[in-house]
Amino acid sequence: MTKLSWGIVGGGEGSQIGLAHRMCSALDDKFQFSAGAMDINPERGNEYGVRLGLDADRAYGSWQEMLDGEKNRADRLDLVTVATPNATHFEITKAFLENGFHVLCEKPMTMTLEEAKEIVALQEKTGQICAVNYGYSGYPMVRQMRDMVRQGELGSVRSFVAEFSHGFHADAADADNPRVRWRYDPKQAGISAQFADCGIHALHLASFVLGQNPKKVSADFAACLDSRELEDDALVALRMEDGAVGRLWSSSIAIGRMHGLTLQVFGEKGGLRWAQEQPNQLYWNPINQSVQILERGQNGLSQSSLDASRLTIGHAEGAPVAFANIYKSIAKDIDARKAGKPVGAQDIDYPTAFDGMVSMAAIDATVRSSKADSVWTDLNI
Ligand code: NAD
Repeated sequence: MTKLSWGIVGGGEGSQIGLAHRMCSALDDKFQFSAGAMDINPERGNEYGVRLGLDADRAYGSWQEMLDGEKNRADRLDLVTVATPNATHFEITKAFLENGFHVLCEKPMTMTLEEAKEIVALQEKTGQICAVNYGYSGYPMVRQMRDMVRQGELGSVRSFVAEFSHGFHADAADADNPRVRWRYDPKQAGISAQFADCGIHALHLASFVLGQNPKKVSADFAACLDSRELEDDALVALRMEDGAVGRLWSSSIAIGRMHGLTLQVFGEKGGLRWAQEQPNQLYWNPINQSVQILERGQNGLSQSSLDASRLTIGHAEGAPVAFANIYKSIAKDIDARKAGKPVGAQDIDYPTAFDGMVSMAAIDATVRSSKADSVWTDLNI
């Protein structure tokens, strides 16, 4: 089978996430990097695309040019990744979906809940793939957690604790640095800063593992640096749709924390603990027994966890491999569609536009709750 054809909007030279997308789309030899509109500056984007090996006529100056150039090609793109700043995700994703492209959009999918609902409706109408890059759900040991919960090994899940807290925006003397400042400015970041940037990763991870979305939230947002309008620290209590209780903390002023994404799940029959900084180990404590350390790639793990592993047991695998599993899952879906095979919900192992919309509903509800002194607030899904 020939490779699928892949293009990216954003992810230009020096961007944080561009290289990750190029690495992850290429890792399983499923996608060929074929087109890009990679930079807000057309010349820079064109030059960089050509330098990376794109044909000059497919290194576009803008996403509109890329859409026009690609939509009538016989060898049009099979997948478009949107990796531009947040405020542009909605219109770019919408335009490519409307023109029959499959899309992988960076998070947050949109700036508002209304826009997110529009994308979900459009995805349902067009039947195109619209995935959202919650890449941490691609980790083999996260899939193992999900499968252990699904198979009932924990019994009913009573609660979870999720964190995504780092300390890299804690320096008051650096708060005016333009690379930091925009994140806490509502005109550029929207209604939430830290929760919308990092907290929703932790929430998606918990929802993915539990198989439950949040139903209502009580949130306490704080801007710990006086110069900030939006929160740099968020504490959220949650009630999930099947009854589990959740506690989530996300901060950017937690000096000493590095990446800080962790998830603990507590069920009737045992507890699980996983941390992104040691992703190859999963701590499993069956009730009244000693804690066991499950290793990525070991015999007896779930098939989807083993399928998501690449290196022999004991070798470190990390974020790029996890993110590549999102591309691998999307490629499987596209290949099935091309082969005319039916694709059911059980075949979809990547985060969808619906997940992106749930995140936007969670952002909307946490902001409303926080402004109302942490009153319990329903998600408008
Ligand atoms: P960045 O500012 O480092 O880079 C953005 C890139 O997009 C630049 O190359 C810029 O020139 C280009 N760009 C801007 N507007 C454009 C336009 N209209 N058309 C084409 N190119 C355009 O940003 P980043 O940190 O790479 O983040 C990009 C997105 O990725 C954000 O939405 C962010 O939330 C997301 N992100 C996700 C993860 C994750 O774990 N999933 C991690 C980091 C960033």
